[in-house]
Amino acid sequence: MTLGHEMGAGASCLKCKEKCEGFELHFWRKICRNCKCSLEDHDVQMDSAENKKVGKLFEDTKYTGLIAKLKTGPFPADKSHNVSLPSTEPVKGPAKMVTLEWAPPVTNKQLVVSYMELLPPEKRPVAGTAGAEYRKRQMARQLPEHDQEPSCCHDLSPGEVKVMQQYVQKCKNEALGVGDLKLPEEMAGGVAQSEGKEKSCPGTNSKDATGPVPGPEQGSKGTISKTGSAGGQKNPGGGSRTYLCYQCNQHMKEGEPAVYADRAGYDRLWHPACFVCCACTELLVDMIYFWKKDKLYCGRHYGESEKPRCGGCDELIFSNEYTQAEGQNWHLKHFCCFDCDCVLAGLTYVMEDIHPVCETCYMQNHAVKCVACQVAITPEAQRVSYGESHWHAEPQCFQCSGCSKCLIGQRFMAVKNKLFCSVECKKTHQ
Ligand SMILES: [Zn+2]
Ligand SMILES: [Zn+2]
Ligand SMILES: [Zn+2]
Ligand SMILES: [Zn+2]
Ligand SMILES: [Zn+2]
Ligand SMILES: [Zn+2]
Ligand SMILES: [Zn+2]
Ligand SMILES: [Zn+2]
Repeated sequence: MTLGHEMGAGASCLKCKEKCEGFELHFWRKICRNCKCSLEDHDVQMDSAENKKVGKLFEDTKYTGLIAKLKTGPFPADKSHNVSLPSTEPVKGPAKMVTLEWAPPVTNKQLVVSYMELLPPEKRPVAGTAGAEYRKRQMARQLPEHDQEPSCCHDLSPGEVKVMQQYVQKCKNEALGVGDLKLPEEMAGGVAQSEGKEKSCPGTNSKDATGPVPGPEQGSKGTISKTGSAGGQKNPGGGSRTYLCYQCNQHMKEGEPAVYADRAGYDRLWHPACFVCCACTELLVDMIYFWKKDKLYCGRHYGESEKPRCGGCDELIFSNEYTQAEGQNWHLKHFCCFDCDCVLAGLTYVMEDIHPVCETCYMQNHAVKCVACQVAITPEAQRVSYGESHWHAEPQCFQCSGCSKCLIGQRFMAVKNKLFCSVECKKTHQ
């Protein structure tokens, strides 16, 4: 699978609307040639591509079985993911049937419903809503295919491919995981799953036996080893435990599911809405996380914690040679003009937002015109700006419209782009 130039081709841009003729992949930037927005800004139907991408990500990991489960959906007999959720538009209303585009891989449907209810409504992956759009966008943003798949990168040397493969294997071995949805009360039995075990089989070796009878319980309502009395959530003396979210440090509510991450150990847990990347604070899409030094990352930000990312092509840099400019890292060949792609090494460039542009493109596309002489102001030229108006900082441009006195360093008044040195000049020339 490659990020072929046909992928997403023609998809309309959600930002630019009809101004973009349709998505057309730039030959090395991961953006649209027509409107310069990213693929995620375009209305690409990528369900099958997403599945493939996630499948590829978990290939050769202990999660392979789980991913098979993810693909078939959490409810084997019910592939459509239909659940009943309280309506949220415009205010909380009665429950209605909705279709989820993704659901946590658990067999207990009630757990899925509770999980969805604990997410902000605009982030619930309900088909046809903003939440489904949010998920799609985050899928592209958090899990860039070119972070995992050398064939999706532009023009890697054999050496870079090798370094990349080692990096990908390392992140699969050490960091990658999928959140595990469980009721904290059910975990109280001291059931801990050992690392290296397939997640779909219940763990049997209890790490810390705080509860009385450790029993393998898997999201079913079957045999919950209740130890607390009713409402005893904040009552450790009563035998019930309190659970604090690792992110917000607030209590978990009894009966509500929590997200666990086996890389983090089962003594840590999160509110569903708190299972977020530490860098971008976005909800970890499909609960796919990367765990490093006691922190949760999305794929994009885990990658950036390990390797520099090129500001031009958005790929991680696996070569020792790269350049730093304007607070970003760049492949040497990718520090290019954002407008015409000419290589900028040794040339004058101007930053337009976060993108460097060459002087020629700057003058053509971005430079402001001097109000007085109507000539575009070069990037090197001294200028005077007043509100939205700009002048060459030269006596022949920045002068009084009445007496032609140079106004640089002087008090002046501006009336409809005309400058005056004094009330008198203003009166005589209006
Ligand atoms: Zn476009
Ligand atoms: Zn666009
Ligand atoms: Zn929390
Ligand atoms: Zn992130
Ligand atoms: Zn690059
Ligand atoms: Zn240019
Ligand atoms: Zn001028
Ligand atoms: Zn004057």
